[in-house]
Amino acid sequence: MQISQDSVVSINYTLTDDDGQVIDSSTLAGAPLVYLHGAQNIIPGLENALTGKQVGDKLTVNVAAADGYGEYNPEAVQVVPKHLFGGVETIEAGMQFHAQTDYGMQVVTVTAVEGDEVTVDGNHPLAGQNLNFDVEVMNVRAASKEELEHGHVHGEGGHHH
Ligand code: ZN
Repeated sequence: MQISQDSVVSINYTLTDDDGQVIDSSTLAGAPLVYLHGAQNIIPGLENALTGKQVGDKLTVNVAAADGYGEYNPEAVQVVPKHLFGGVETIEAGMQFHAQTDYGMQVVTVTAVEGDEVTVDGNHPLAGQNLNFDVEVMNVRAASKEELEHGHVHGEGGHHH
């Protein structure tokens, strides 16, 4: 069965940056990634490359930053006063918060704290990076009616609700 619109696809993958450093992999996650093809569950560059592939196929997919998590936007970095984090005892670099920004609701990452000034970065951690995927297709099946209605996979590797 070839991967097409509404296939439920399981893949093993390794994601590396341009220096060959492993950013993420299904081995780290402990199980294959399972997603609904054509529902924008995964980044478009990877999804498009998988169309027409089948179980056992191996492929390398290079996704430019713009087609992955976007170019790095320096304007998404802001310095805000600490009191905006009211209720949070200790603010440290690396912490992530949901915040209302000029670009809507986003996850922001604290990158620095100096006195009362907190620097937050609204870019996705992988923004500005080219993404290199080594992928093996492990399983392909048709989605159930319920999965199509929900726009995501149920059961193993998917949603349980
Ligand atoms: Zn569901």
